[in-house]
Amino acid sequence: MSHGTTTAYSLGCRCDECRTAYSDYYRRYRETGPRYWRGPALIAEVTTLLERGRSIEDIAAGLEMQPKSIARAFRRHGVAVPFTQRKSVHSKATGAA
Ligand SMILES: [Zn+2]
Repeated sequence: MSHGTTTAYSLGCRCDECRTAYSDYYRRYRETGPRYWRGPALIAEVTTLLERGRSIEDIAAGLEMQPKSIARAFRRHGVAVPFTQRKSVHSKATGAA
């Protein structure tokens, strides 16, 4: 695995290069602001990151969103949710299943 990448970081590496890559990445999202990360842009970004092997929890943390909010955005746009949410948290089962 190559260091200085968010992928390496998400795989558990905490060397300086990987931590810097991750903090840069995280800052980019913070600066862009959550407003941008909605709808098609959010879906495209999340899909890309998932394809790169990142976990939904990791992606959600970077976006400062809950995985369930991301799942909701996918559904709202008629896109199949491409990840499995952890089932440990059963907050509300209000969905029209
Ligand atoms: Zn590393």
